[in-house]
Amino acid sequence: MNEQIITVKNLTKQYQETQLSGIRNINFSIKKGDIVAIIGESGSGKSTLLKCIYGLLKANEGEVFLNGKRVKGPDEQLIPGHAEMKMVTQDFSLNIYAKVYDNIASMLSNTDIAAKKAKTLEMMERLRITPLKDKKVIDLSGGEQQRVAIAKALISDTKVLLLDEPFSQVDALLKNQLRADIKRLAKETGLTIILVSHDPTDGLFLADQLLILKQGELLQNDSPEHTYSNPSSIYTAQILGNAVVLNQQEAHQLGIKTQKQHVVFYPEWVELKNTWSSKRFEVSEVYYKGFYDELLLERNGVKIRALQLNSGEHKKNDHVKANIGRFLEF
Ligand code: ADP
Ligand code: MG
Repeated sequence: MNEQIITVKNLTKQYQETQLSGIRNINFSIKKGDIVAIIGESGSGKSTLLKCIYGLLKANEGEVFLNGKRVKGPDEQLIPGHAEMKMVTQDFSLNIYAKVYDNIASMLSNTDIAAKKAKTLEMMERLRITPLKDKKVIDLSGGEQQRVAIAKALISDTKVLLLDEPFSQVDALLKNQLRADIKRLAKETGLTIILVSHDPTDGLFLADQLLILKQGELLQNDSPEHTYSNPSSIYTAQILGNAVVLNQQEAHQLGIKTQKQHVVFYPEWVELKNTWSSKRFEVSEVYYKGFYDELLLERNGVKIRALQLNSGEHKKNDHVKANIGRFLEF
């Protein structure tokens, strides 16, 4: 089960000749049945990459292969897109005046009415929208509409599901449910899923493989765990974990010796304990986070952040001993 389902080779899409836009020289492959998350700030090229993979956008250079066959661009076929892939975008593209059932069933032909009905009902069950069967799409919440859109995308023997910012319209509670459902769907059906998001928590929770995009370039391609603990750039550390970034001079102020320009660490790498290398910091702010506090600490005018798992343990203007247990240099 180590088959590659998708391979992207040297993919470049430039919208304008002069300005930087789109994506540049992207290379990666995806294993069948995996969930891949593409994370990057707004404008980093996520949607462009997704559209090129699906065959909606013509790349300037490079190719996409699905099961070894090149995916055709929009200029090479009558209906742009690929029969074995489906893309769900933020607007869902549903018929909002039609019933949920009819929206999904409309993707299947009428050659076998009984099979059509059975398949539609099964897909609704999988997405947990059976109770919405006879409702019109316009009367559904954003999260419900999204489930309908996914059911509709999956019903016609889709091998690869492309999701563009799938969680942006959904509230926090539904978001968790939808994430879990997507993970379950991939496991149950062997479906391969590519989702793009500017919110790293989507990707970290779900994905088998994480791609980090910045200004159209692929910075890192690895497992979420490895990427998080070994970010290859400051950007990755910041987008994934709200990292603290110090310049060389600030690092020296805290007693960290470095030859590099920057020292980077996550707040949870700061140990609030008294060791031989601990330094005295003043607590300049306490942010309540529920079951923990985030502390803003200051020493010699340099500010860092640390986590205090015993919420309420420290107050503003307290003094604490802290040790930066691990840091990366860039
Ligand atoms: P993301 O989805 O990560 O927010 P996009 O792929 O939409 O990013 O856009 C990547 C870059 O390409 C941005 O700088 C954007 O302004 C530019 N871009 C996207 N679509 C077009 C277009 N149709 N024409 C010109 N520039 C575009
Ligand atoms: Mg986008």
